Amino acid sequence: MTIKDIENAIKTLGSELYGRLILPADADYDRARTIFSNGADKRPGVIVRVKTAGDVQRTIDVARDQAIELAVRSGGHSGAGHSTTEGGIVLDLREMNAVAIDADAKTAWVETGATAAQVTAAAAAHGLVVGFGDTGSVGVGGITLGGGVGYLVRKWGLAIDSLLAAEIVTADGLRLSANPDTNPDLFWAIRGGGGNFGVATRLKFRLHELPAFTGGLMVLPATPDVVGSFIAAAEAAPDELSTICTVMPAPPLPFLPAALHGKLVVFGMLACAGDPAAAERAIAPFRALGPIADMVKPGPYASMFPPEDPDYHPTAAGRTLFMNRVDGPVAKTIVDTLSTSSASISVVQLRVLGGAAARVPADATAYAHRASPIMVNVAAFHGPEDKSRQEAWVEDFAASLRQDAAGAYVNFLGDESAERVRAAYPGKTWDRLRAVKARYDPHNFFRLNQNIAPAT
Ligand SMILES: Cc1cc2nc3c(=O)[nH]c(=O)nc-3n(C[C@H](O)[C@H](O)[C@H](O)COP(=O)(O)OP(=O)(O)OC[C@H]3O[C@@H](n4cnc5c(N)ncnc54)[C@H](O)[C@@H]3O)c2cc1C
Repeated sequence: MTIKDIENAIKTLGSELYGRLILPADADYDRARTIFSNGADKRPGVIVRVKTAGDVQRTIDVARDQAIELAVRSGGHSGAGHSTTEGGIVLDLREMNAVAIDADAKTAWVETGATAAQVTAAAAAHGLVVGFGDTGSVGVGGITLGGGVGYLVRKWGLAIDSLLAAEIVTADGLRLSANPDTNPDLFWAIRGGGGNFGVATRLKFRLHELPAFTGGLMVLPATPDVVGSFIAAAEAAPDELSTICTVMPAPPLPFLPAALHGKLVVFGMLACAGDPAAAERAIAPFRALGPIADMVKPGPYASMFPPEDPDYHPTAAGRTLFMNRVDGPVAKTIVDTLSTSSASISVVQLRVLGGAAARVPADATAYAHRASPIMVNVAAFHGPEDKSRQEAWVEDFAASLRQDAAGAYVNFLGDESAERVRAAYPGKTWDRLRAVKARYDPHNFFRLNQNIAPAT
């Protein structure tokens, strides 16, 4: 294959698309190549802004036939930087973002370039909801294929637990349906197995009725007692209440006293999918911890996804793990270790799972950590100069927190190692995924991801 062949193939692709190509000489190339993580500063050869499943097929055909590296992008939030490539093709789905709600059937067909906030807003117009994560700009494609742990995880499970069907373009350019009756092995694998099996163009979700919602931010003092009590309250809460407990230095927010800026605090996000009186009862144990600021109130679920700054591109070292318990001594380790950090911002985020997420059998989907009760993320922001130092700090800190709950959540993995990808798929899940990979992508064409090599 010569450079000329590749250029010709891309030129032909451009003339065949409903979407468009963005090339390095184009005015919007720099913006188009930027993904959320600032660490992934790569220059793709071409960005293909697909508009149709046919565009996706043609892009896959060219990348495969010309042996060009392919990055697949929905919302561009891959912490590992997998949705960009140096010199290759980015298949960018952001303009494939239609959301078609069937309010009577309580379902939605969603093109995967839609964001969590777009789907939330479209469903809310009908009093309906489906959970994704904690951030509105995250792409439905990436978060759903990896699992999707968000503000409704205890009430209705992960995003994949509301997934009814998918349309997928495979490595050989075929368009397949995947649902419990058609290609059920593929349907099982894409519910947690990430982008290993093809490009999902549309996903069908079950929507849930949400007549009332109470939620928002509660800022609390970052003492070991508060952290431990927050987690105990989250574990004891009804399934209606999902929480995220983030311990980090307070930014200079106007509603916080200046004396607290830069000091460790707990940012508690509380989300209660229930009527206001029940929500008040569920939230009372958190209020009893003595908030510094309390913005938890009845309102629309969409208010959990406030507008974001599109130019915010942090660079951070991160590790994800599961824990069995965060009691007093563990909470003390968390607060003490964060206090010694040399990073500008260092963070521990704790998500109590359980509820509906834990009632799904471990072998029902490729996300198999159903019995793991607490998901934890450790992160330290850095620049190029202290990258290796913060990586080492985060690795040591995460190691000090690990209990007997092994494993990792694939969507929070960085660009780590084959062992860490393996940790995302415990027990028989790994072998099963490799068998499905061998069936749908035997040459590992989709490999710029948390890769599952095909069984041989
Ligand atoms: C600020 C932030 C907050 C987050 N919060 C949460 C959270 O609360 N809960 C949670 O579960 N996760 C969360 N995540 C992790 C997030 O789910 C993953 O990073 C996810 O992969 C992002 O999806 P995306 O489409 O935006 O990313 P992209 O970078 O576009 O895609 C990531 C990878 O997913 C695959 N992929 C994406 N779209 C497709 C597709 N259509 N077909 C096939 N493969 C595809 C590709 O392998 C791609 O490399 C968060 C990430 C960030 C940066």
